Amino acid sequence: MRFAEDKLTRNSYYTASAPRPASYPPLAGEAEADVCVVGGGIAGLSAALDLRARGYSVVLLEAREVGWGASGRNGGQALVGLACEMTTIEQQLGREAAGRVWAMTVEAIDQIHERRLAHGIACDWQAGALAVAVNERKTRELHAACERLARDYGYDRVQPLARAELPLHIASPRYAGGAYDRFSGHLHPLKYTLGLARAAAAASVRIHEGSAVLRYDAGAQPVVHTAGGCVRCRHLMLAGNVYLNSLAPESARRIMPVGTFIAASAPLGRARAEALLPTRAAVADTQFVLDYFRLSADDRLLFGGRVSYSTVVPPDLPLAMRRRMLHVFPQLADVGVDYWWGGYVDITMNRAPDFGRLAPNVYYLQGFSGHGLALTGLAGRLVAEAIAGAAERFDLFAQLKHRDFPGGRWLRTPALVLAMAWYRLRDALR
Ligand SMILES: Cc1cc2nc3c(=O)[nH]c(=O)nc-3n(C[C@H](O)[C@H](O)[C@H](O)COP(=O)(O)OP(=O)(O)OC[C@H]3O[C@@H](n4cnc5c(N)ncnc54)[C@H](O)[C@@H]3O)c2cc1C
Repeated sequence: MRFAEDKLTRNSYYTASAPRPASYPPLAGEAEADVCVVGGGIAGLSAALDLRARGYSVVLLEAREVGWGASGRNGGQALVGLACEMTTIEQQLGREAAGRVWAMTVEAIDQIHERRLAHGIACDWQAGALAVAVNERKTRELHAACERLARDYGYDRVQPLARAELPLHIASPRYAGGAYDRFSGHLHPLKYTLGLARAAAAASVRIHEGSAVLRYDAGAQPVVHTAGGCVRCRHLMLAGNVYLNSLAPESARRIMPVGTFIAASAPLGRARAEALLPTRAAVADTQFVLDYFRLSADDRLLFGGRVSYSTVVPPDLPLAMRRRMLHVFPQLADVGVDYWWGGYVDITMNRAPDFGRLAPNVYYLQGFSGHGLALTGLAGRLVAEAIAGAAERFDLFAQLKHRDFPGGRWLRTPALVLAMAWYRLRDALR
């Protein structure tokens, strides 16, 4: 499988706007801990923080740098809910359990506030998220979904918007209607992730960067190996997103890496930026291959979209991203793109998250399906709870059933490319 990761990270607006503190040293020699966490994204760091708060000793191993993965590169949209419809959860777990899952997605946003306030993480939080639909039929579907959320889940913070109301939030001719959620919002994800790492280190989590885990020996005391040393632990947590393949082949079969890309415009100036998005809400459309965008704190438009199901970065990426941006905001024809980058999301077949255990003391979190900025934090908390003996909330998610992607490790990508071509066509026709 081919990942052009360095090309994707080098030119990120986030890297350019979030100073990195001195790096954490690689693991050297033998170490012991109650818990070894693999992966320095929000999932791993969040678990590490909560485990320390409960008194466990923690070593966190990160192959590159903390925040190198999706957590430091994403669209910054911190949204309630899951990547899948709640009906997917209802069908598997029933309405009452689906209600508990929904409540945890709300808690995930509260947790972001709790953490940025408790640890003084300045990450440019901005409240407000807008979902937009490209035609009348999709607007009706979106409004019906809002009504269901209020009726079945008691979530009344989202307001359906008719076409005439859209200019309050967005100046684009593309959309026929929308829904504004005042509780969700957006932030600078790399600043947030680096802040979590700083808080974890201050709480005596031993973080080691440049420490790729090559293998582990399972057992009552798993031993986790890197090139420079090993960690003996009682519990192991795998939070490596799409990169774990050979480390956890049995769970990796259920996720597929999908590339998604973001372009950052040149600074627009406050007045022009807020002429586009007067409430500064994060925006996502309801298309299967969606556009998602928002303003940065320094008034750039960060525009995400364009996916790659083949793990190859599209060669015309900056141009293609600009074309999509102009499709939404033709008034930006004179504005250039300063940065572009991307990363991989870990999608499951049904887009529901996939949490579980590979052994009684080996936990994994995956399958956030492009909707993980907030939920990874909560998921890390659930692992900490489970290790501490209160596994009910973790096990609620772990009950969700998932199917392997067809085709095995080498064939699942071409199979998905075909499937996605069909979904794109369906988007265009409906
Ligand atoms: C371009 C993009 C846009 C997105 N936009 C949004 C959005 O707007 N809203 C939203 O909710 N979600 C979004 N997502 C998804 C979201 O970013 C992810 O779900 C979330 O950040 C995943 O966090 P994580 O901790 O699971 O993984 P990551 O942040 O990817 O961290 C995994 C870490 O594990 C490390 N690792 C892997 N293997 C090993 C190993 N063997 N040894 C040691 N370390 C290892 C990696 O180096 C990496 O740093 C987006 C994702 C991308 C890529």
